[in-house]
Amino acid sequence: MTTAIPALTLNNGVEMPAVGLGVFQTPPDETIGAVEAALSVGYRHIDTAAAYGNEREVGEAIRRSGLDRSDVFIETKVWISDYGYDETLHSFEKSAAKLDVEQIDLLILHQPLPSEFARTVAAYRALEALLSDGKVRAIGVSNFLPVYLESLLAQVDVVPAVNQIELHPYFTQVETRELDARHGILTQAWSPIGGITSYRDGMPKRTFDDPTILAIADAHGKTAAQVMLRWHVQQGRSAIPKSVRPERIAENFDVFDFELSDAELAAIDGLDAGVRGGPEPADVNLENFGRPIPEA
Ligand code: NDP
Repeated sequence: MTTAIPALTLNNGVEMPAVGLGVFQTPPDETIGAVEAALSVGYRHIDTAAAYGNEREVGEAIRRSGLDRSDVFIETKVWISDYGYDETLHSFEKSAAKLDVEQIDLLILHQPLPSEFARTVAAYRALEALLSDGKVRAIGVSNFLPVYLESLLAQVDVVPAVNQIELHPYFTQVETRELDARHGILTQAWSPIGGITSYRDGMPKRTFDDPTILAIADAHGKTAAQVMLRWHVQQGRSAIPKSVRPERIAENFDVFDFELSDAELAAIDGLDAGVRGGPEPADVNLENFGRPIPEA
């Protein structure tokens, strides 16, 4: 087991570990165990969200670990129901109180709200204020396709540090990645090992069963998940795999001791099927996805 944690430098100089633990769909009563397992094998980055309902448990696990607060990079997200300037400032207060921290390392908007984009921009303006007040160390967005990113960039001052998007071998989002790169925005992969191709009904095929990935894994004595994570790391992306199982949490972090060849990276790039597993960003609105985020 390695404890080396390559860091990525965000566009404002803040450093973020390249691989973190995601906790979407991790029930609150399993979150403390999962985060503790991760921290014990060397993870120092946790990705949660106001909408996941487990920020309190993420904070509790970090406290129980005995690590200094500054040793763990905490990323969380503002839910669409809290968009708007004052609402988003209050969303920070709720998340910080649940996490029991003074400062959040990276706070991002969970989704664009295309039907009410002015509210999305106002929410981002609140993130800018939190950044200048030192309440957060970096700010960003998630699920911002080029059309939304371009529109946001035209209306705000601070270029997002991160755009967290669905990104796995079957959905590689080249256009969004290229736009991110052009603006110095780090692309962060959600569902980095294609979990959504397994847990979402109706997906055509599972990344874990892919013959190309399995052959590469076999050649390196690694698992399919490890190969997919290595593919992200070598291409300079952040990845936040989720698991509640300690053995998989450890497996997903054990990706820093092997190297994929250019041909192997290209072979994985070539698996893109262009099929999105998550919601179409254009379809997300307050009517179908809105729900209140509880007070702390
Ligand atoms: P992942 O690609 O991380 O896959 C997670 C799934 O794969 C789970 O079902 C997990 O099951 C299983 N799994 C984990 N490790 C292994 C392994 N080594 N071998 C086989 N199976 C494995 O997908 P997620 O969609 O969970 O995405 C990861 C994170 O990204 C989330 O937790 C969240 O932080 C973020 N995210 C953000 C979104 C956004 O809109 N911004 C949307 C979705 C996710 P088990 O737990 O049983 O091990």
